Amino acid sequence: MTHIIETADGFVDDALEGFARVHSSLVRRVDGGVVRARPLRPGTVAVVVGGGSGHYPAFAGLVGAGLAAGAVCGNIFSSPSAGQAVRVAEEAHGGGGVLFLFGNYAGDVLHFGEAQRRLNEAGIDTRTVLVTDDVASAPVESIELRRGIAGDLCVFRIAGAAAERGLAIDEVERIARSANDRTRTLGVAFAGCTLPGASAPLFTVPEGMMSIGLGIHGEPGIRDVPLQSARDLASTLLEPLLAERPAGAGTRVVLLVNGLGTVKYEELFVLYRYASEQLEAAGLEIVQPECGELVTSLDMAGASITLLWLDDELESLWAEPAETPAYRKGVVRQVDEAIARQPTTTQPKAAGPAQATTASLQLASLAGRLIETALGAVRVEAAELGRLDAVAGDGDHGEGMLRGLQAAHDFVAAHPQLGVEALLLGAGDAWSETAGGTSGALWGGALGAIATTLGNREQYGPPELGDAITAAVHRVRELGGANLGDKTMVDAMAPFDDALRAALNGGAAPPAALAVAATAARDAAAATAGLRPLRGRARPLAERSIGHADPGAVSFSLIVNACEAELAR
Ligand code: ADP
Ligand code: MG
Repeated sequence: MTHIIETADGFVDDALEGFARVHSSLVRRVDGGVVRARPLRPGTVAVVVGGGSGHYPAFAGLVGAGLAAGAVCGNIFSSPSAGQAVRVAEEAHGGGGVLFLFGNYAGDVLHFGEAQRRLNEAGIDTRTVLVTDDVASAPVESIELRRGIAGDLCVFRIAGAAAERGLAIDEVERIARSANDRTRTLGVAFAGCTLPGASAPLFTVPEGMMSIGLGIHGEPGIRDVPLQSARDLASTLLEPLLAERPAGAGTRVVLLVNGLGTVKYEELFVLYRYASEQLEAAGLEIVQPECGELVTSLDMAGASITLLWLDDELESLWAEPAETPAYRKGVVRQVDEAIARQPTTTQPKAAGPAQATTASLQLASLAGRLIETALGAVRVEAAELGRLDAVAGDGDHGEGMLRGLQAAHDFVAAHPQLGVEALLLGAGDAWSETAGGTSGALWGGALGAIATTLGNREQYGPPELGDAITAAVHRVRELGGANLGDKTMVDAMAPFDDALRAALNGGAAPPAALAVAATAARDAAAATAGLRPLRGRARPLAERSIGHADPGAVSFSLIVNACEAELAR
């Protein structure tokens, strides 16, 4: 639990501000995160890392010479927005392109993906390599589905050193991929973590037990076993890592023992002792190891072991010096060269003050009322949505929806003169920017699709409303790649859309059609309890999720049912 706090909402901002003040000689705070205090040498690649907050020293603490050029810092355990990633990358880059590195989580993939698109459009060559080191999150055959945990440090370090050498972006990208392919991690949790301001942990581990395969966002482990001695724990964690020796790996490895938040350094050293002995007994040679807090999960009691299987190229990069607030090695040669920062315009065009039609203004006012209705409904159920998300996800769904809807609502309140298109475009952007997380990006996209489908017409009728909903479902499917049955919000949205269209085509008036569709959404959301999640954070813990409805499907149903009731008033 958090002992020092001003406000729960302001926690991330307060922490980042304090951090930047402490380390002002190394980092500079920018909108969306931090960048190095000294500009990159002209032409070098900017390695930009990021993700949710709550993982210190990841990500802000890893910004500096020989490591990252910038860190994008989202809310606690939720992805930063595309806008944040664009702004940090623009500040960080030195003319050699941008390489985004982050753990493989759906929300981060969506937001950084959109940022990459915008940066490339603006002429900044931008690439992405996902970190996928967690062996507990998917079998080796589907290694690309694995999430990223403490192995972040290995991939960031190697790529950062390659960029510092002045290698071109193709090379830095190739090397980062090679480092990720050879990095494997497995962790254990002894007790859960608690979000700042919350009174209970996101999950608990039964007395006398430990949870193998924890995530770093409060996702519980994949199996609970009785507590073990340090020697046995080392072999429990190492065994799956050793069983997965990557093709072509030699006998030289980096051993990284990571503390997740509240396990003391002395305990980590105990684990390190037995892990290193066992690796030596297996004929491996340990090269420049690390032991300490490198990627944490708030106050989670837990530890993880990472192996990075070296080759000559990776080993020479791993040995390079680095100087960041939280990670220092060797002596960094400072080169005093400043670059002129090129101002770029990569933000989406603001919805212009188009001459809104009367019909569009009327629809905008209705849309604003429905957003307020949705906000009220989600506020009542936020805690329950969080609990549902904590079953197999990270517990932030209620908070994220609330933040997003509040931002959308604030945008509406501040723009009474806009027509429905401009209003919903702005509200969608505000939602996505503020909520972070997967659902924020998807809802932002959905509102955007509704906005452009509705456009600025002289009149609106049932077909336009039906088309707008269909466009929203298409956008969510396109952005998130989910199919029906994957156990996501799509499983409530698609039946809603189908029922609405069928009723409208059958000649029902919009309110009656909406009533039928809202019921279909409610039934479909409840029926997701029987599904196994195939997308998003809940996928690694699929079994645990069975019997519980998908949080995104439930919040969708909640919103459309509340809007239906509001319109029927
Ligand atoms: P995060 O997973 O980033 O923490 P939230 O907790 O706010 O985001 O939202 C989780 C919900 O997002 C899930 O319950 C699911 O309905 C939805 N979701 C996750 N991934 C996808 C996807 N690829 N496509 C559609 N919906 C998704
Ligand atoms: Mg979540």
